[in-house]
Amino acid sequence: MKSLTIKTKDQAFTKSMEDQDCDKRFEQFITELLGEKPIEKNTTEGQKTAHSLPTSTYEYRGFLVVKCERCGAIRAFCSKTLIGKFICGNCGHETPFLPNMARVDVICKCGNHATYQTNITDDHFDIPCVACGSPIDVEYNYKEKQYQSMGRS
Ligand SMILES: [Zn+2]
Ligand SMILES: [Zn+2]
Repeated sequence: MKSLTIKTKDQAFTKSMEDQDCDKRFEQFITELLGEKPIEKNTTEGQKTAHSLPTSTYEYRGFLVVKCERCGAIRAFCSKTLIGKFICGNCGHETPFLPNMARVDVICKCGNHATYQTNITDDHFDIPCVACGSPIDVEYNYKEKQYQSMGRS
């Protein structure tokens, strides 16, 4: 136990409290007296989210094929957690995900079958196979409203 004392010429206030609490209160009080802004995590975090608020809230998980909206680099990966954007390894740009991303169904020459979700809107593009790394040609099937690897109907 410690005690925190605030004293003027003719008044004194003393409060006993837990050591940790006492130190914290004392620090807070001094900071306020000196006219400095109290260091509060919440304020800075709040400002941070206010800045990046208009970004998307469309979150996806699993196999994703994403194209950087700035440099056009395509990346295929699997996310175990829900993510709302992808940070380009090439240029560092953050691409927010779109609502209703298209499905991509691919079968590689190596036999690996994978289903992705993509923000790509081109008629066809290449996906690097997650198993063997070779590029797989995919094209948009307007009937099925999804992408498929070429050579399938
Ligand atoms: Zn990029
Ligand atoms: Zn493969």
